[in-house]
Amino acid sequence: MKRLVRGTIEDYCREHSASPSALLQDLEAYTIAHCAQSQMLTGALEGTLLRILVQLTGARRILEIGMFTGYSALTMAEALTEDGTILACDVNPETTAIAHSFFERSPHGRKIEVHLGPALETLAALPPDRKFDLVFIDADKESYLDYYEATLPRLCSGGLLVADNVLWSGAVLKPERPSDHAIVAFNDHVKRDTRVENVMLSVRDGVTLARKR
Ligand code: SAH
Ligand code: CA
Repeated sequence: MKRLVRGTIEDYCREHSASPSALLQDLEAYTIAHCAQSQMLTGALEGTLLRILVQLTGARRILEIGMFTGYSALTMAEALTEDGTILACDVNPETTAIAHSFFERSPHGRKIEVHLGPALETLAALPPDRKFDLVFIDADKESYLDYYEATLPRLCSGGLLVADNVLWSGAVLKPERPSDHAIVAFNDHVKRDTRVENVMLSVRDGVTLARKR
């Protein structure tokens, strides 16, 4: 995988961070062995960051856009209190089936409610008063701005929006492809948006944390 914060330093950070559960390690190994796009996995370092963010914020209602084989959903579910829930969205039935098979092996899997279908349609169909404490955006990059605008009204005041891949392997510095320009537009938009206060972290492929005022 191309990474901006490359190789040894990122390995060192991961080695000096809390380790994922045995089941998450299994899920990572299974995904690498069976899925062509296994580089999309959130993985140990960012997964542990998400887990700590869930614990620090005390979030109980989480929305995830882009579940893939379920690594980030399961890692956040492990950190949630017993009454916590995650609504996880994805369009891919094959990777969703893998996610389900791992959720079934975890006592935390029942906290995850999966919606198969385009995330914007799932969001539009939710009751208007359905709110979230934490939103994790990690689906198709071209739609990041739409996901942001669709979710921010549903984020409670003081809630946290987390967006992954905001450095896009460094392409933000020299955008060429449509996805590069989409991430650049997203990053500029969040920075300008007075409804949130944000910080962009260079963890892995870049993670933006935006706290709703
Ligand atoms: N968070 C995951 C990685 C997500 S990868 C992890 O931790 O492993 C991006 C995912 O977004 C893919 O599984 C893809 O199927 C999904 N996706 C793409 N377009 C989507 C859409 N319109 N709605 C919902 N999910 C979408
Ligand atoms: Ca990602």
